[in-house]
Amino acid sequence: MIYADNAATTQMSKAAISAMLNCMEETWGNPSSLYGLGQRAKEILEDARERIAACIGASPKEITFTSGGSEADNQAIRSAALLGAQKGKRHIISTAFEHHAVLHTLKKLEGEGFEVELLPVGELGTVTAQQVSEAIREDTALVTIMYANNEIGSVLPISEIGPVCRERGVLFHTDAVQAAGHLPIDVKAQNIDMLSLSAHKFHGPKGIGVLYARRGISLTNLIEGGAQERGKRAGTENVPAIVGMAAALEEACAHMEENAAKVSALRDRLIAGLSWIPHAALNGDPVNRLPGNVNFCFEGIEGESLLLLLDDRGICASSGSACTSGSLDPSHVLLAIGRPHEVAHGSLRLSLCGENTEADVEEILRAVLEIVGYLRNMSPLWKDKVSGKKEFVL
Ligand SMILES: *Cc1c(COP(=O)(O)O)cnc(C)c1O
Repeated sequence: MIYADNAATTQMSKAAISAMLNCMEETWGNPSSLYGLGQRAKEILEDARERIAACIGASPKEITFTSGGSEADNQAIRSAALLGAQKGKRHIISTAFEHHAVLHTLKKLEGEGFEVELLPVGELGTVTAQQVSEAIREDTALVTIMYANNEIGSVLPISEIGPVCRERGVLFHTDAVQAAGHLPIDVKAQNIDMLSLSAHKFHGPKGIGVLYARRGISLTNLIEGGAQERGKRAGTENVPAIVGMAAALEEACAHMEENAAKVSALRDRLIAGLSWIPHAALNGDPVNRLPGNVNFCFEGIEGESLLLLLDDRGICASSGSACTSGSLDPSHVLLAIGRPHEVAHGSLRLSLCGENTEADVEEILRAVLEIVGYLRNMSPLWKDKVSGKKEFVL
């Protein structure tokens, strides 16, 4: 099997599994309990918090554990919205190609009287600090812009957007789920007020994530109950998952540069090979791009058919985001970068990690070239285009 869907989830690292097993076997107490077993769990919980904070340049008190990236996004945005509303600020700036955890939360807030402005992301799938600066108003409560896009891999200029927001006194949140463990993050240097990350995107376990919120930003609870996480997120802490996340993040950050160099070389080989296919186009920013992300549109085919035939050959890939697959709507991300519906349906995302090899890349290239040719030969639409009855889009 060739696994090339690391943007959907990653295989857990050995370090993360062994940290979790050890915790489940030895330190399974409730961190809120006062006897030794509980207090040892509390110690490893706080140790994990310190190690995770260190990986992103935060202090441990600024780290809240959540059930994953989606919850962190929801809580960050809801908290900033409430803080804004208390001062009469109800304008929120974001982009058209955020993850649904962000977009659907913003949609809800619109129903609650907030005004949401989604910045266009252009053909490359990015926004500039100047666009953000021009959009900020007196009544802007929050700017929430992702660090890197999960479908097309564009890396956004967060280090430039952060200072603009700070200078104008507007809270800045970034969904860094695709960036954490893959790209350097320093919340202080980058002027990030709030940041979401999720362990299962960097070889940690599923169902655990982090909301970083700068000291002084008061969070709104999504879950009420006990006093865990300084009263901001009730529920007994998932200590095994938290220590697994800490182990995975530390490992990813320790090998970030060498891993990025290796993975981006594989990515570039894939992009070069797929570029030979006629009437195909790379999606996303060719330069400012996640090390592992490859995303193409192939005219005249259905992405779903391509995925099924790749699966027959043991290749795991995606047509976009895992959250959209199963629905017939084309990806909102591809529409946001201006791909027409017809072409957006023929997309393929391959997301690589350090475990992939050059042999994997060669095998993927062979398979995609053959399958795209096969599907096109069967497509009446493709025949119309080849014969000149219909225009090519790409
Ligand atoms: C995966 C992902 C999420 C959701 O994270 P979960 O931990 O699966 O809830 C949010 N944002 C982006 C950009 C993602 O890639």
